[in-house]
Amino acid sequence: MPIAEPGAGPTEIAAARLIVDLGAIAGNFRLIAKRAAPAAVGVAVKADAYGLGMARVGPALHDAGARVFFVAWLEEGIALRHLLPEAEIFCLNGVAPGAADAYAAHRLMPILGSLEEIDEWRAAGHGGKAPAGLQIDSGMARLGLSAEEVDQLVADRQRLDGLNLTLVMSHLSCGDDPADPLNLAQRASFERDRGRLGLVSIRSSLAASGGSFQGLDFLLDLVRPGAALYGLAPLMGQANLMAQVVRLQAKILQVRRVDRGMTVGYGATHRTTRPSRLATLSTGYADGYFRSLSNRGHAYLGPVRVPVVGRVSMDLLTLDVTDAPPELARRGAWVDLIGPHHTVDDLAAEAGTIGYEILTALGARYARHYLPADGKAGAAT
Ligand SMILES: *Cc1c(COP(=O)(O)O)cnc(C)c1O
Repeated sequence: MPIAEPGAGPTEIAAARLIVDLGAIAGNFRLIAKRAAPAAVGVAVKADAYGLGMARVGPALHDAGARVFFVAWLEEGIALRHLLPEAEIFCLNGVAPGAADAYAAHRLMPILGSLEEIDEWRAAGHGGKAPAGLQIDSGMARLGLSAEEVDQLVADRQRLDGLNLTLVMSHLSCGDDPADPLNLAQRASFERDRGRLGLVSIRSSLAASGGSFQGLDFLLDLVRPGAALYGLAPLMGQANLMAQVVRLQAKILQVRRVDRGMTVGYGATHRTTRPSRLATLSTGYADGYFRSLSNRGHAYLGPVRVPVVGRVSMDLLTLDVTDAPPELARRGAWVDLIGPHHTVDDLAAEAGTIGYEILTALGARYARHYLPADGKAGAAT
């Protein structure tokens, strides 16, 4: 579904603008909730809601019905607590060393991810009172109890006894690929460890966006999508059911005519093969438009696809608009870098990365405009 353009407003004078459709995020949440039911949906809003602005996205998800939130850092949890006084908030990165009291003070639940963290949480005196989650590693080797730590805990179960655990979780390494046998192996490992630790009656979670679309076996009690809420395709190689959330537009600063054989940009990496028209836009790698898109990216003037030519510079990029009608390729016209014809995933593929990195790198200079779920428009303040 295409994302509407905001009308005249503060973003009209901007050199480049980022339009975030909060209604699309809310719709994506409801779609996942419907498919996952009776499992609940906890939403990942870490890294400033994947670069889209937690201050706007968090409350919009809450309005849509989300009650469980995942951030990575303690600092993100504190910021979210101020926005959502009643939500359940988990901090995925666990107890930061020496910071146990801060979680309890803000009613944040760290996801304990090692024996050291378990011991630190208990030693801080929060074990029996303040709730926390527990992560068991099943194949990421990143966070979560290792197989050896699970063995140690099984042998010394008392170490867990005083804890007030409200969630036990693990994380899939190939959740976006249903054909990968690791998914079932990780699920079996997680089930086995939960059983050995006597935690089967505690709320459980395994699936992020990908796993949420992998079928009933992966849903457990709670799914934890992030990317799919923000419009990225949850499963690779399959049609994307999620509504697009982001539109990124930059204005044409100038259109220039150049002869055949002219070079374009730093390093002279592009040479025109015909008399050409080039459009220069106010966006560059300092805005998260990756330098790897040099001579590889595409943009849209209305429905017309045009290539990035030459190297992306810090504040500028250049398009070859020779084949676009002059009424679209004119000074002051908006160009879609991400839009109805070119999704975040499309741009990521051209940049040689994933949509997650495109979103979380979106620049601070863009005029941000939020299309609200309830129909009231408003620019970011
Ligand atoms: C980031 C993250 C999520 C959300 O992942 P998506 O792929 O964006 O849905 C869920 N769980 C954990 C542990 C994460 O780190």
